[in-house]
Amino acid sequence: QPNYKYLVVGTDVSIPLSNGKYTKEINFDNAATTPPLTSVMKAVNDFAPWYSSIHRGTGYKSNLSSEIYDATRKTVADFVNMDRDYSTVIFVKNTTEAINKISNKLSQVIHNGIILSSFMEHHSNDLPWRKNFNMDYINLDHKGSLSLEDCEQKLKKYNGKVRLVTISGASNVTGYKTDIHAFAKLAHRYGAKILIDGAQLIPHSPIDMKPAYSNDHIDYLVFSGHKIYAPFGTGVLIGPKNVFKYGSPTQVGGGTVKIVTPKSVMWDDVPYKEEAGTPNIMGVVALNASLMEMNKLGMHNIENMELNLTEYTLNKLNSIKDVVIYGNENNCDNRIGIITFNIKGLHHSMVANILSKEAGISVRSGCFCAQPYVQKLLYLTKNDINKLQRNPRYPRPGMVRISFGLYNDYSEVDILIELIEKIVKNKSYYLKKYPSKHHEI
Ligand code: PMP
Repeated sequence: QPNYKYLVVGTDVSIPLSNGKYTKEINFDNAATTPPLTSVMKAVNDFAPWYSSIHRGTGYKSNLSSEIYDATRKTVADFVNMDRDYSTVIFVKNTTEAINKISNKLSQVIHNGIILSSFMEHHSNDLPWRKNFNMDYINLDHKGSLSLEDCEQKLKKYNGKVRLVTISGASNVTGYKTDIHAFAKLAHRYGAKILIDGAQLIPHSPIDMKPAYSNDHIDYLVFSGHKIYAPFGTGVLIGPKNVFKYGSPTQVGGGTVKIVTPKSVMWDDVPYKEEAGTPNIMGVVALNASLMEMNKLGMHNIENMELNLTEYTLNKLNSIKDVVIYGNENNCDNRIGIITFNIKGLHHSMVANILSKEAGISVRSGCFCAQPYVQKLLYLTKNDINKLQRNPRYPRPGMVRISFGLYNDYSEVDILIELIEKIVKNKSYYLKKYPSKHHEI
């Protein structure tokens, strides 16, 4: 396995442990956000002297900044094989803003339709739709991944009223990868469009939106730069130009117009009309640099490397008594490098705390902004959920999540596994050392 530590910033800094010693952090929390690539930092630094306002300035630097900003739309389009005649790239802040934007935009044109989301979604691909539409949710299959059969049943049931199927390309909880083209084909067959929340898919797997004429193409794709090593506050919304061409933008102000009189407004062309205010130029430069680096490394290579590491970790975790893995615990079919687990008898937040304090391992614990999904995976009853709603001191449900980046390696996994084995063997010692209000899961 190549050592890619040198590609990212921050792997060499030391952090304190509970015994007063220092260690290098082991970052297994890449699903939350990823460290910047060295090449991203270099691009941002190299660009800084040339940084200027875009689109409206006439100076040399302003023209250069505009060129780089707009050229990045092409980098993004090529990265996901977007059909450039049919679709447009709109820069936003992150995935959440992208989904809010498209939900608000579609609410201008869809009046009686239904939006079909799923029980596997991050709140960001659920709540923005609840706000504007009648919704239903695709069910999970027995393994906890998305059921294509249930999707078809729901599409049939609503008889042409489902206008959009909006689902994750990969789950941030179980790491399940969705067969996005199978869902796209199905949605199109029933007259619906498809949106893929690519927040977790983008850094781990190649994405092909396919040409607009193919029956399994992806209509909308959204993702965040900070999950693909470009943490400067840029997100991407890709969608059909036509959708944004008519009506007013979702946010209005400077940059969205051609002609304004005291009584009238003529909106600018797509995509500019949807990027109100001064855009995040530095963030776009960062995203451009990270996608270039990904192209150099090859998304297939990154995917294979991360899956080998995931398989290695799954095998080790599976052999530890009292470790419960959620989702597919046996193999790496249709998944990305995310593994979520609990240790029987220990609260997830406590396990996460021990990993950090004893070995400098960063993970995330809780429900990962996907509470309905976690509730299903944990088989919570209505009664459990009632108790949660009524009593703020009732132990919060959740899990511990390991999520890999391209720079993680086998020796880091060995340290994790060794510590988990120690925790399982010495539960009472750790319960005493890390007293927690919530020992029970
Ligand atoms: N969808 C998924 C699947 C995610 O994992 C995340 C981030 N955890 C989001 C959406 C939201 O991304 P952001 O916070 O960058 O808007």
